[in-house]
Amino acid sequence: MARIIATDEQISNIVRHMDGMIHCHECGVRIRYGDIDCPRCGADIEELLRAWARQVFDNLMATVDEHASE
Ligand SMILES: [Zn+2]
Repeated sequence: MARIIATDEQISNIVRHMDGMIHCHECGVRIRYGDIDCPRCGADIEELLRAWARQVFDNLMATVDEHASE
């Protein structure tokens, strides 16, 4: 069974995503890692976090596919 090891490219991809991070959909304040609601207005950001995680995951899978087809 093939073991998938993250490449430097994939890791920098994730780091870039984390740097862009998430902004509150209500007030636009930047959400920091570990927050589960907005520190300014208290909006529930779970959906935003999930969407962000999905984006990172899809991005990662896309690069895995690229490398697998090489
Ligand atoms: Zn907010």
